[in-house]
Amino acid sequence: MEVDSDSDISLDLDHQSSKAKGKAKAKAAADKKKADKGKAKAKEQPYVWEASFARSWDTVQEDEAGSLQASVEDLMARGRRRRLLAPASAIRRTIIRHLILVLDLSASMMDRDMRPTRFDLMLQYAREFISEWFDQNPLGQIGIVGMRAGLGERVGAMSGNPQEVLKSISDRVKLEPVGEPSLQNAIEMARNNMSHLPTHSSREILILFGSLTTCDPGNIHDTLDTCVQNKIRISIVALAAEMKICRELCDKTAGQFGVAMNEGHFKDLLFELVPPPAQRAAARSARPSGTNAGLNPAPANPAADLMMMGFPTRLPDASIPSLCVCHSELKSQGFLCPRCLSKVCDVPTDCDVCGLMIVSSPHLARSYHHLFPVKTFTAIMKDLDVAPDAADACHGCTRIFPERATNAKEGMSPFRRYRCPDCENDFCSECDVFIHDVIHCCPGCGK
Ligand SMILES: [Zn+2]
Ligand SMILES: [Zn+2]
Ligand SMILES: [Zn+2]
Ligand SMILES: [Zn+2]
Repeated sequence: MEVDSDSDISLDLDHQSSKAKGKAKAKAAADKKKADKGKAKAKEQPYVWEASFARSWDTVQEDEAGSLQASVEDLMARGRRRRLLAPASAIRRTIIRHLILVLDLSASMMDRDMRPTRFDLMLQYAREFISEWFDQNPLGQIGIVGMRAGLGERVGAMSGNPQEVLKSISDRVKLEPVGEPSLQNAIEMARNNMSHLPTHSSREILILFGSLTTCDPGNIHDTLDTCVQNKIRISIVALAAEMKICRELCDKTAGQFGVAMNEGHFKDLLFELVPPPAQRAAARSARPSGTNAGLNPAPANPAADLMMMGFPTRLPDASIPSLCVCHSELKSQGFLCPRCLSKVCDVPTDCDVCGLMIVSSPHLARSYHHLFPVKTFTAIMKDLDVAPDAADACHGCTRIFPERATNAKEGMSPFRRYRCPDCENDFCSECDVFIHDVIHCCPGCGK
């Protein structure tokens, strides 16, 4: 009978008679499907400890001609799709940020599931993160706290100078992992570092956590409640697995939580935290449509408050040396606070004498692009969209566009043209990425 039903199927596969499929066969098929699915899933993105050893050069595929163009385009397409997901309109964001980076320096960071070790990888990514963070948030300040041997340890004081912050984690030997981590101690220490901050600045804690345990002196839920009260946002990137308390810390404080599956994913999760978070405070009234926020910000943002900022005077290098108020060092160069005329070494900072926030205008201007992002360029998909009088070269770099459509990945234009919705100039994919990621301003229309 089994033979009969089998032959049935092989004769008319497309027929409805496939209902007559033998049970055993159906089960086998289902099993195979499951196995296939499992395989496909594993192929997508395995956890590092599940995966066999992967060679980075295997993931890059050459095409028939031996060119790497296709792989590069794949990466770009991914970036484009991610950018399309981001909100295009102006959202209110905090541009004066204060972040405490909490590094796990416990023994579990010596695990080798991420290469070379979790600890080394974390340090490397933390350095890249800090550089990128200061580039995007020039008005921000970062402090560093370590979790080691059951204690919170101040590694670097809150500072707006990237060099100073990087210097505090440059010595690998000083940060050598040992003992158990303590989430509560570290969060308490971070919280105390930020308790003096004014309300217009954001208070954020970012924890890079590689352990599956935490060794706390008291009830961590009390700490969590205080953080919620103090409007501190906690984000965690875990390297091992999800812990309930970690998830809760992030959810209740409106932070982000992620478990890194592999080295690349770890970096992605970390760099997602570079752009300033959207401010959640509800505006007192809805924004009237058609208001030009650039010209007339007052009615658009009724909940906005004014804050004091000072633009300092830069002292020439040849001026008479005097003591700075921040380090008490004798120096000739520096900046003068416009209110109390005391001398500070670096901007942006808060004046140590009168507390005024001292910024330079380029810093302020560079923070601006988060508030008004460049509109996403539309990928030209159809022949009709390329007007006969359209420029045949990129408006940014004057590289000639291909005349005929080429095959392209999802989200990419087969004509390699990306058009600015405002000035209707066409740009190549490289310029598209450069405009959105680096210069934050369309060279065609200046918006
Ligand atoms: Zn100084
Ligand atoms: Zn001052
Ligand atoms: Zn170009
Ligand atoms: Zn434009």
